[in-house]
Amino acid sequence: MGKNTKKQWDLVVIGAGASGMMAAITAARANKKVCIIEKLDKAGKKLLATGNGKCNYTNAVMHTDCFHGEKDFISFVLKQFSTEDCLDFFHSIGIYPKNKNGYYYPNSEQAASVVNALLYELERLEVKICYETVIKDIVPFENEVCMETNKGNIYGQHVIIATGLLAAPKLGSDGSLFDVIKSLGHRFKPILPALCGFYCKGMKFKQISGVRAQGSVGAYIDGEKYAEDTGEIQFTDYGLSGIPVFQISHYLSKGLYEKRKVEIKVNLLPDFDKKQLVEELDYRCRIGASMPVNTLLNGLVNQKLADMIFDKAGVETDLYQSCLSESQLLKIAGLLQDITVTVTNYRDYEFAQVCTGGIPLMDVDYHTLASKLVPNIQFTGEILDVDGICGGYNLHFAWATGYIAGRSI
Ligand SMILES: Cc1cc2nc3c(=O)[nH]c(=O)nc-3n(C[C@H](O)[C@H](O)[C@H](O)COP(=O)(O)OP(=O)(O)OC[C@H]3O[C@@H](n4cnc5c(N)ncnc54)[C@H](O)[C@@H]3O)c2cc1C
Repeated sequence: MGKNTKKQWDLVVIGAGASGMMAAITAARANKKVCIIEKLDKAGKKLLATGNGKCNYTNAVMHTDCFHGEKDFISFVLKQFSTEDCLDFFHSIGIYPKNKNGYYYPNSEQAASVVNALLYELERLEVKICYETVIKDIVPFENEVCMETNKGNIYGQHVIIATGLLAAPKLGSDGSLFDVIKSLGHRFKPILPALCGFYCKGMKFKQISGVRAQGSVGAYIDGEKYAEDTGEIQFTDYGLSGIPVFQISHYLSKGLYEKRKVEIKVNLLPDFDKKQLVEELDYRCRIGASMPVNTLLNGLVNQKLADMIFDKAGVETDLYQSCLSESQLLKIAGLLQDITVTVTNYRDYEFAQVCTGGIPLMDVDYHTLASKLVPNIQFTGEILDVDGICGGYNLHFAWATGYIAGRSI
C-alpha cells in the first residue's frame, strides 16, 4: 500500500480485552477485515489476572438474576450466547473446559492459555492489532469513522468500543477514552467499584485482620435488607472483603453513592437456628463451668472472632463460665448471629474486579449494541451498564456482547 493510500477496515475494535477480542474474532470469521487498537503493549492483560490467574470464563448457571441491569436486555444477550455457546466457542480455539461446581475454567487452569488461544485465533484470521496506540479523537462520517491516534489516522466502516470502565486501571481499563466518548454525545451512568472490599467500622478490625471465616453477610440500606450471601468472609484491617461481600457489593456501592445508611450484618453461624445455638452455648457452659469464659467458643468460631464477640458483649473473659448469666449467654448468642458494621466507603478501583454503571442501555440498540446517537459505533463488555456477580458472569457478558456486536457487522 502506498504511503498516502487510505486503508479502510470493515471493523475497528478499540480495546483488546475480553469483549474486544471476541468481537474481532466473530467478525473476522465472517470474512471481515478487522483491526484492533490497544493502548497497552499486550492484549488481555486483565484476562491474565482473572480467577486468580485461572480464568473463570463462564458458569453452568446462566440466569438474569446473576446480573445487575435491565433484565430484558440481559435475557436477550444470554439467549444469543449461552453457556453452551461459550464452551463451544472456547473449545473451537482449543480451550478444554474444567467444571468446578458449575464454575468453568480452562483445563490447564491457566488464564494465559485463554489469552494465547484468543491471540492464535486472531492471528489465524489475520486480524491486525495496533499496540501502544492512543486515540486522540473519534470522528464519525456518514459511511466511516476515523480514529485519530498517536500513530496516524485509522479508518473503519464500523467501530466497536470495548474499553471497559475503571476496575483495575493498571490492567488497561483506565477511562482514557471517556472524554472522547462523551464528546460523541454519549453519557455515562455513575461508575462505582463493585466486586470489592469495603471500609467498615463497628469491629476492632486491626485485631481480627487476616481472619477468614465461613459466614453470611447481609447488605442493609437505610435498615432495609437488599441482599445476602454466604461463604468465606475475609476480615481485614480496613473492613470486610471476600466472595460473599463481593456478591452483595453492587447494593453497598450504590447505597454509599446515594449517601444512604449502609450496613453489613454478619452472621458467623448461619447454619444454627437461634434455639439450637442457645442450647449449644448452655451445654458448653455446663461442661466448661470451671473454665474461663474466653474458652467458651473454642472450636466453634475462630478465637480472634470469639474475643471480639466477648468484647462486644462486655463480658469479663477471665471469669469462670459458670459466672455467665443467662442474659450474657443470650447476648453472646445474638452477636454470633448478628454483628452490624457500618460501611463507610468502597475500596479503590484498583482493588475492584468490576464496576457498576457505564453507557446506559437505553442509548444502544439491544440487537446490535449499536449506539443510537452515533452511526457505525457499538459498545460491548463492561462499558455497558451491566455488572455480574462473581462466578464467570462478567466474562460471559463480555464474550456474549462481543459476539453479538461482531456478528452484526
Ligand atoms: C483481578 C480480577 C479478576 C477477575 N476475575 C474474573 C473471573 O474469574 N471471571 C469473570 O467472569 N470476571 C472476572 N473479572 C472481571 C472481568 O475481567 C471483566 O469484567 C472483563 O474483563 C471485562 O471485559 P471488557 O472487554 O469489557 O474489558 P477489559 O477486559 O477490561 O478490556 C478493555 C481493554 O481495552 C483497553 N483500553 C482501555 N482504554 C483504551 C483506550 N483508550 N484505547 C485503546 N484501548 C483501551 C484496555 O487496555 C483493555 O485491553 C475479574 C477482574 C479482575 C480485575
